[in-house]
Amino acid sequence: MSDTPRLAPGDTIGILGGGQLGRMLAQSAASLGLKAHIYCPDPASPAFDVSETFTVAPYEDADALDLFASSVAAVTYEFENVPGATAAHLDARVPVRPGVRALEVAQDRLSEKQFLSGAGVAIADYADIQSQADLDAAVARFGGAGVLKTRRFGYDGKGQKMIRSTNDADGAFDALGAVPMVLEQLIGFDCEVSVIVARDVDGHTACYDIARNHHENHILKTSTVPAGVTEATASTARAMAEKIVTGLDYVGVMGVEMFLVRDEKGERLLVNEIAPRVHNSGHWTQDACLCSQFDQHIRAVAGWPLGSADRHSDAVMENLIGFDADSWQEVLREPASRLHLYGKAETREGRKMGHVNRISKQSV
Ligand code: ATP
Ligand code: MG
Repeated sequence: MSDTPRLAPGDTIGILGGGQLGRMLAQSAASLGLKAHIYCPDPASPAFDVSETFTVAPYEDADALDLFASSVAAVTYEFENVPGATAAHLDARVPVRPGVRALEVAQDRLSEKQFLSGAGVAIADYADIQSQADLDAAVARFGGAGVLKTRRFGYDGKGQKMIRSTNDADGAFDALGAVPMVLEQLIGFDCEVSVIVARDVDGHTACYDIARNHHENHILKTSTVPAGVTEATASTARAMAEKIVTGLDYVGVMGVEMFLVRDEKGERLLVNEIAPRVHNSGHWTQDACLCSQFDQHIRAVAGWPLGSADRHSDAVMENLIGFDADSWQEVLREPASRLHLYGKAETREGRKMGHVNRISKQSV
């Protein structure tokens, strides 16, 4: 449903998914006078703490989805693996923003790559892999190296295998579950960066400053802004992000992950993947911009105009992963830091428990 009424203060936005992203979206909704209804199968969802209404039910429960749809004026989601049938079921009843197409494209690495190259966005060379024989041929074509990824359900580096020799390729198709995959060319990047972009129902876009991302154990650890890239690179990043959201007729915030390659020819960007939702590498916007990525997403989903994505400070966002969060008292004592905790009852290794935004005077 695209011909949507615009929401008014007091209306309710439905959010699929009850993790920290849903929680921060609900907080932004509240700050804009909107209500949130969270739908999540997990009864211990951190987003439930901050929302007026919640539903605990499977994503396949048609009756629960109908009740949910009848209680909200628009639906959004905090994760990209919302089942396609769930999104389509809701979309027949209430506007789903970003749309079903964005979900379909982002859920399947092959569709994603086809869309990105069709939109004229630079990506790593890739091959469609349906068998070990396809893999062997593609590894040979890429000079004996590549990154093998399942087309669906990968996150935090899961569902992928680095291939640096034909030995690594042996048996890799079965080892990853013998499901449809892609092989990507192995990129010797200088660093990873991302752009958070937003698009409203009228087609206006707003782009936050590019962030430099550092991962530890395959999980994002820090995002730093400014990223230390040339103005030309920053402007290419924005242009790529805008092409993507425009090409998808997208409504809401999207995270676009990119590789920055530096060689004798200078700096070059390749898009790695897109996340059709607010993104961990955009958490710095909460404390360094007038309008955070969460406010921006809620505005877009409500059919409201976007706010400013301008940055007023420099920022380093650090994820508090697992027992990192035990340092909360030390963080509280830092004068230029803002602590964000997600209210998760149980601390587990590798689990995102919170983050801290360390803010300093704007340098660029
Ligand atoms: P996340 O949930 O962190 O986004 P993911 O499971 O979706 O991870 P990717 O983002 O595709 O997977 O890849 C994870 C990491 O693996 C990247 O951040 C990058 O460090 C490395 N990587 C992925 N693809 C390539 C590539 N083609 N060349 C070199 N390194 C790569
Ligand atoms: Mg990624």
